[in-house]
Amino acid sequence: MRYILLCAALFLPGRLTLPLKQESQRSSHLERMQNYLARFFPSINKLGYLTLEEKIKEMQKFFHLTITGKLNSETEEMMNRPRCGVPDMLDYSTFPGSPRWRKNLLTYRIVNYTPDLPRDMVEKAIEKAFKVWSDVTPLKFQKVERGEADILIRFAYGEHGDSSPFDGRGGILAHAFAPGPRIGGDAHFDEDEKWSQNHIGTNLFLVAAHEFGHSLGLGHSDVQGALMYPIYHYWDPNTFRLPDDDRRGIQKLYGRKRENF
Ligand SMILES: [Zn+2]
Ligand SMILES: [Zn+2]
Repeated sequence: MRYILLCAALFLPGRLTLPLKQESQRSSHLERMQNYLARFFPSINKLGYLTLEEKIKEMQKFFHLTITGKLNSETEEMMNRPRCGVPDMLDYSTFPGSPRWRKNLLTYRIVNYTPDLPRDMVEKAIEKAFKVWSDVTPLKFQKVERGEADILIRFAYGEHGDSSPFDGRGGILAHAFAPGPRIGGDAHFDEDEKWSQNHIGTNLFLVAAHEFGHSLGLGHSDVQGALMYPIYHYWDPNTFRLPDDDRRGIQKLYGRKRENF
């Protein structure tokens, strides 16, 4: 949880030298790229301070692109894809310190609803997203209607009080916080997306299943095709099966589902 807030604070206002006449046009473009790197590939890692070129390399390594340390079209194209708002970290399958819940029964509350879908469809998508994780671990999820809950689910626009503002349609779709008190475990969905139950717009079940992985303590996976890969990818929710990479990750934190209990 603290990690995300820290990343937002580590924003780097560094400037590159450019010919004057192109500067204003290019600077907004460059700023966007720098914002992306500052947000998803933090300036400081275990190796110490990272330069812009090193951050580009980290990103290229994470996404298995050609490692050049330069902003080329392949890298920029990846930056433009709809994705999760949680940073991508190398060498971590969970958040630093591996936070996890110390209990198996977790409560959740849907604080507000998106107008994009009927209420019962939102509830079904959320329930199905939790089931992805409870099917393979001893975890159980219980919906509560009011008061405190471990995982609060909200739909919100733009700046919404946690220093990680949403960005309008596309770009960042949602984010969630690692297990912990207060905001820990909470999942926020960008209301500027068009939430859906199919392939049109952004599928709520798929994004929620990914975000709840964070709520339970998983970080991003660099395995393409994993649910915890940071880039949005549509799969038919009716035939969805949790990929092995994600199953192994969550079972490392909580163990396997105990049968016959
Ligand atoms: Zn994510
Ligand atoms: Zn938020």
